[in-house]
Amino acid sequence: MTNRTFTMIKPDATQNGNTGGILEMINAAGFRIVAMKMTHLSETKAGEFYAVHKERPFFGELVTFMSRGAITAVILEKENAVEDFRKLIGATNPAQAEEGTIRKKYATSIGENAVHGSDSDENAAIEGDFFFSKLEQF
Ligand code: ATP
Ligand code: MG
Repeated sequence: MTNRTFTMIKPDATQNGNTGGILEMINAAGFRIVAMKMTHLSETKAGEFYAVHKERPFFGELVTFMSRGAITAVILEKENAVEDFRKLIGATNPAQAEEGTIRKKYATSIGENAVHGSDSDENAAIEGDFFFSKLEQF
């Protein structure tokens, strides 16, 4: 089991000026940033990142949304990182997200939900390597 997870601050949060606020919540929860970059996903790259959802009815909408503006990709380190980070971000649908979670504070809908969080150690490693070379992971 690793102690790392991967997150993305999504285009809605970037456009709403919430990047700093989200990073502050992440730091306050005890995560250490070990890699970070602001970048942009093309439609092709967004589709590749979320390929697991390609048969879902919302896939087209998801790809359009994720490629419409800048994102910030971040690798985080903390004991029990994957599970603790999923708790910090809250439910996919902000209407169901608990008080004190990032999505409760910053998400606007089930699609535009401010942040991504890896769902397993294996995917955390795959997703981190999608954005960062080994030399960029500290
Ligand atoms: P993420 O993988 O981004 O951390 P998640 O694990 O909470 O989110 P998933 O089921 O993996 O949720 O869905 C991936 C993303 O697809 C969601 O975060 C959201 O942006 C979008 N999405 C999921 N369900 C819907 C839906 N019903 N309608 C529109 N968009 C959706
Ligand atoms: Mg997911």
